[in-house]
Amino acid sequence: MAAENTLSTIDRRDLDFQLFELLRVQQLAERPFFADHDRETLNAALDTAQVIAAEHFQTHNRKNDLHEPSFDGKTVTIIPEVRAALDQFVGVGFMAAHRPYDEGGQQLPWSLLQGCFACFNAANVASTGYAFLTIGAANLIGAFGNADQKARYMAPMLSGRFFGTMCLSEPQAGSGLADIRSRATPLADGSYRISGSKMWISGGEHELSENIVHLVLARIDGAPAGVRGISLFTVPKFRVNDDGSLGARNDVQLAGLNHKMGFRGTTNTLLSFGENGDCIGQLIGQPHRGLEYMFMMMNEARIGVGLGATALGIAGYRYSLDYARQRLQGRAPDNKDPASAPLPIIQHADIRRLLLAQKAAVEGALALCLYAAHLVDIEHTAASPAEKQQATLLLDMLTPMVKSWPSEFCLEANKHAIQVLGGYGYTRDYPVEQYYRDNRLNPIHEGTHGVQGMDLLGRKIVMQGGAGFALLLATIRADIAAAADPLVTPYAAALEAALQRVEQATQAMLPAMKDGRLALYLANATLYLDMLGHVVIAWMWLRQANVAAAALHNDAQRDADFYQGKLAACRYFYAYELAKLDYWLPLLARLEPATLEMQPAWF
Ligand SMILES: Cc1cc2nc3c(=O)[nH]c(=O)nc-3n(C[C@H](O)[C@H](O)[C@H](O)COP(=O)(O)OP(=O)(O)OC[C@H]3O[C@@H](n4cnc5c(N)ncnc54)[C@H](O)[C@@H]3O)c2cc1C
Repeated sequence: MAAENTLSTIDRRDLDFQLFELLRVQQLAERPFFADHDRETLNAALDTAQVIAAEHFQTHNRKNDLHEPSFDGKTVTIIPEVRAALDQFVGVGFMAAHRPYDEGGQQLPWSLLQGCFACFNAANVASTGYAFLTIGAANLIGAFGNADQKARYMAPMLSGRFFGTMCLSEPQAGSGLADIRSRATPLADGSYRISGSKMWISGGEHELSENIVHLVLARIDGAPAGVRGISLFTVPKFRVNDDGSLGARNDVQLAGLNHKMGFRGTTNTLLSFGENGDCIGQLIGQPHRGLEYMFMMMNEARIGVGLGATALGIAGYRYSLDYARQRLQGRAPDNKDPASAPLPIIQHADIRRLLLAQKAAVEGALALCLYAAHLVDIEHTAASPAEKQQATLLLDMLTPMVKSWPSEFCLEANKHAIQVLGGYGYTRDYPVEQYYRDNRLNPIHEGTHGVQGMDLLGRKIVMQGGAGFALLLATIRADIAAAADPLVTPYAAALEAALQRVEQATQAMLPAMKDGRLALYLANATLYLDMLGHVVIAWMWLRQANVAAAALHNDAQRDADFYQGKLAACRYFYAYELAKLDYWLPLLARLEPATLEMQPAWF
């Protein structure tokens, strides 16, 4: 059997750099909600995450992949290590760590927790999935549920007794949620009888927790068509009595498990609600506002997807880096002596290209995910309405890229990791092929890559008369202005030039939107997403390089290799990746119609 990866899957030095030197999350302690925290408590949370991830999650990552959950018609069986690992996660309070003290939480910053969660994701993304789904579902009930739902469902979820799911997709309605058919019929006691099928539901059935709380999108009888007629319901696997004990089984049936390419340790299910006419759910918030509620929580959920993709990228990068230092193969191009010793492959420029591409992608993506999570912290603890509004607007603007850029380009990084290992990378004896398979989910779920592109170009660029786009540009320009060190001013100038070209190309596209040629305007939306994502990652590299340059100037000896590595990766990103704007921008500006004009019959 393939061995478990025992190398450290996370770079704590980089995590510390990103959180404490770049974002300075310790300064969040100036806000009353985080006032009890300091560098020591924040470090302690990271230490705990790192240890539990390494000792309880990483140790069965491969086993989880090889022994995916199975269903014998009655019970879903999952390897016992998953439950044991989740018990550890729950035991130290990570399920509720972001919540207020009076809900059993620790009031830890969301940004710091993303650093902790990166450790778990890099160690074992599939086992971690159960916890993250539960946190997301609990947050949704916390934001929009009533007192009864919070006590009955959210509290046991935060304490790890119940787990949660998100039931949006149906067999005929994936990207197009307007076509959801699940129904909710009002009952005399205020609850609803739920019926319908939900497809792809992660964590939909298992024995890992006492109960599973499904958050289900369905239409109340007589609701308007389209997305404005969809409501959100809590639908527990077991009904919950007023004293918190479990009642009768609700009519939610497992219709089958999906067998996936990766993420195999997370059960993925087709669920039937109300096959016997006895599935009872409770409405969350107001009728017909279900999708709106889901979307209000999407920013946080999508940071989670971006972070998961990044963490898998980091795990692959670290494994391939270690391999490249040890694997001996070939000689320098100018060495003609066959008797000389072969070199570690890290000595070859092409291998360094593959490693630099990974480093630039994963550390750039990590900076973006943590930046977005920091905006969540600011949004939740803003001192003024204006501060909150700015944070929300910038987060809304960035979200499609936070979700998509890591999903697409940290997957690409996983491809490079396989390449560094050559033939060995293609075998199941090494972990890098699993990282790739696991990561391949991320451009598909939580809104596909294509859907994110349409969200960015169709909604975010034009929202509030372009205010979000303007705020993004102004925020980047503030960092350009702050980059005064001669080591980084060339990058600041290159980024300013890129911003001007992006503005011009966007202006050239917008008339198509304004005069109703929407199909043409959106035809290259995915390319626009990749392009603007590259600009945003270039910005993240400017920010990192700025801190690295200052550190080298302050003390050229301290951690010099680490900071030089940051500058080298920044240099790589600008030379090899930002340069791709030369391909994207002309194509976008001229509204290239080749794909739109191609006819289905011509294929
Ligand atoms: C492993 C896994 C776990 C999942 N977990 C969950 C979960 O827990 N809960 C849940 O509710 N869902 C879950 N999903 C569902 C996931 O969100 C959907 O698969 C996703 O939204 C895409 O829907 P679809 O598969 O029906 O593809 P489709 O919507 O059929 O899309 C197929 C292709 O068409 C493209 N496309 C669709 N519409 C358009 C359009 N208007 N314009 C241009 N292109 C378009 C898409 O981008 C995609 O490339 C999961 C999926 C997987 C694979």
